[in-house]
Amino acid sequence: MKATGPIPLGFLGNEGELAIGGMTASALVDQAGDTPLFVYSIDHLRQRVADLRAAMPQRLAIHYAMKANPYPALLSLMNGLVDGFDVASGGELELALQAGVDAAKISFAGPGKRDRELQRAIALGVTLNCESEGEADRALRIGAELGLTPRIAIRVNPSFDLKGSGMKMGGGAKQFGVDAERVPALARHLIAQGADWRGFHIYAGSQALSADAIIAMQAQTLALVVDLTDAIGQSPARVNLGGGFGIPYFPGDVPVDIGVVGHALTEAFDGLPGSLASTDFCVELGRYLVGEAGVYLTRIVDRKVSHGEVFLITDGGLHHQLAASGNFGTVIRRNYPVAIATRYEAEPEEVASIVGCLCTPLDKLSDQAHLPHADVGDLVAIFCAGAYGASASPANFLGQGPAKEMLV
Ligand SMILES: *Cc1c(COP(=O)(O)O)cnc(C)c1O
Repeated sequence: MKATGPIPLGFLGNEGELAIGGMTASALVDQAGDTPLFVYSIDHLRQRVADLRAAMPQRLAIHYAMKANPYPALLSLMNGLVDGFDVASGGELELALQAGVDAAKISFAGPGKRDRELQRAIALGVTLNCESEGEADRALRIGAELGLTPRIAIRVNPSFDLKGSGMKMGGGAKQFGVDAERVPALARHLIAQGADWRGFHIYAGSQALSADAIIAMQAQTLALVVDLTDAIGQSPARVNLGGGFGIPYFPGDVPVDIGVVGHALTEAFDGLPGSLASTDFCVELGRYLVGEAGVYLTRIVDRKVSHGEVFLITDGGLHHQLAASGNFGTVIRRNYPVAIATRYEAEPEEVASIVGCLCTPLDKLSDQAHLPHADVGDLVAIFCAGAYGASASPANFLGQGPAKEMLV
């Protein structure tokens, strides 16, 4: 038997089944018309943002990094909850606009922005988080061609990273951002060329659960911002402090203590020099805001025994849940939180592996979990499915196609 990760708070049973937004898993699937199905909980999303705001200093704006989940209905909801959106492609920019996001609230990061993406963003007044000197010069040229002043921030490649981070995105040679020592010269160039100087974007990593690691990263980020501001001689309009707040996916994972992070950040803001007195600060979070709000429901289509081990074979798989299968940036495969959604209140009585329908041994959703007895027709729930699920999995693999999605 292998342990499974912690089921996020707030997912309760109703009539013996997992219920989300007041509907049982069976009723949700009936309404959607089919499985597999991603369900995103409105209550969970609202509560998460409210709790985060309560913990953080008022001065800190909260942005949504929409690559975690670009489902249109979820974007519309998030538009009413957060202060800004961070997009990382022209496609995401269009999705944000379609969801009603004001272009002035959008910033656009990501290496490899094409000229037509820069044109569209500049025409809309989106803030560009420029990833290189070359990109900054293209933005200046395109702004001149359009007769518009581009709004430009610089994404800084810091010399530090987020400790304990699942995915390191700062420190050393990187394809992201401009090396910190070259940032002052580039900023002065942008200002001299007449760009609307928006400040810094400093992203040092992702999926950290340690408050201490996040506090240390934020302190290093603020110290770097103070130095860069001194060297440039002009205050940044905004500083994006990155994000990196993680969620518990695996056995033993403990949630980030955001209260402790918020206290430390309040103190750090109080200690800032006058040069940053009118600067706005934000964090950009993806999985922390949406990851635990999502559940993936898939139906058991076969039950078999091989060499004494039980396999529950579902109509879903890694083509929607690459991360849960352990094939999205993890070294050692561990089990996400999982349950038999249609026997949610039953006691575990057997060890079974939940697999997908793809012809690859990688397609494992849960390995040797302790579960209630489940049969063909039962629904399986994989939790923590709200981020990097539907949009970060190879949906067309083996001709399967996308899952359904629903916000309740
Ligand atoms: C991926 C990414 C995020 C979101 O990361 P999460 O771990 O989902 O919070 C934020 N900012 C940048 C620059 C990213 O690349």
